[in-house]
Amino acid sequence: MSAAGPCTVGATCTRGVPTIGATRWKGGNVSDSDSNLETAARGRVGAAIVPPAGISHAARVVYPDRGISKGEVAAYYAAVARWMLPELANRPLSLLRCPDGVGSACFFQKHHTQALGRHVQAIALREKGGVVDDYLYVRDLAGLLELVQMNALEFHPWGAQVDRPDAPDRLVFDLDPAPGVPWPAVVAAAREIRARLRGFGLRSFVRTSGGKGLHVVLPIRRGPDWATAKRFCAVLARALVAWHPQQYIATASKSRRQGLIFIDWLRNTRGATSVCNWSLRARAGAPVAMPLRWEELGRVQGGAAFDLRKALKRAAALQRDPWEGIATLQQVLPEL
Ligand code: ATP
Ligand code: MN
Repeated sequence: MSAAGPCTVGATCTRGVPTIGATRWKGGNVSDSDSNLETAARGRVGAAIVPPAGISHAARVVYPDRGISKGEVAAYYAAVARWMLPELANRPLSLLRCPDGVGSACFFQKHHTQALGRHVQAIALREKGGVVDDYLYVRDLAGLLELVQMNALEFHPWGAQVDRPDAPDRLVFDLDPAPGVPWPAVVAAAREIRARLRGFGLRSFVRTSGGKGLHVVLPIRRGPDWATAKRFCAVLARALVAWHPQQYIATASKSRRQGLIFIDWLRNTRGATSVCNWSLRARAGAPVAMPLRWEELGRVQGGAAFDLRKALKRAAALQRDPWEGIATLQQVLPEL
């Protein structure tokens, strides 16, 4: 139980905010020793869903095609938080909020407002035009659940942490297949990027996007600025295109993409985001962006292979983080 607040899952919350204290992320492993959290994680007691404390309108349907309610979404995030928070916490975030559920209007939000909740943090960041504004981030499950209470469905962190927003530590190669590109070609592209990075002595990690594609994530030791990081990604993406012009494209031009996989390296820039591991997507079927071990990739059927239910099962069964080791890797970005 945290000293920060009196509220526990399932209990009446005297200050109107849930604190599921034992899950606070301190930059290392997330402790999940709180039995209240486990109740929340299960999400159901008997036939009734028990949403985490602080979640209102829990019965409201968010995914009409699956009949998944806001309470179930909140229970989902409580259940996967142990695995999700290490890549979510302490990074500026964009949210996709869907107050009326999937299929109705959703909107992106990156700025902090007081209304988001007591555990949602603000960080003053310089915008493109030079103006400084408050961005938002969370440190722990309590913050994550406050965002869910505000109808956030998707979570999109920066590839940098709030203490050094100008020093990226996660670079992303986002593989976007054009319609009709067979899934095995996307898998092959991800493996090729992995192999090329290995050629530089670099370890990379893979996730399904919860949509059409895969993301290959390269963790780096903080130091190089965004421009340097982006340049590295550009060189690698263009080399891949040079080797396989019939398969890949590395320019944003939509018209030339037919039959090809777009290797989107352009998002490795200050302020850009990619979807967080374990984030739901606001799309039909309640798909999830899922981190994988490379050895698992061959058994995955598509970018939306994991939905909320499969992700819950996986979270409960996992012994180890599929991306184990990423937090302690200190890989130096090569100079190209
Ligand atoms: P898919 O596999 O379907 O492409 P994706 O998550 O990779 O799923 P993209 O459209 O390729 O979706 O975008 C890549 C990333 O860029 C997203 O994960 C998201 O973080 C960010 N992004 C995309 N569109 C927006 C937007 N309108 N506002 C803010 N961020 C966005
Ligand atoms: Mn994509």
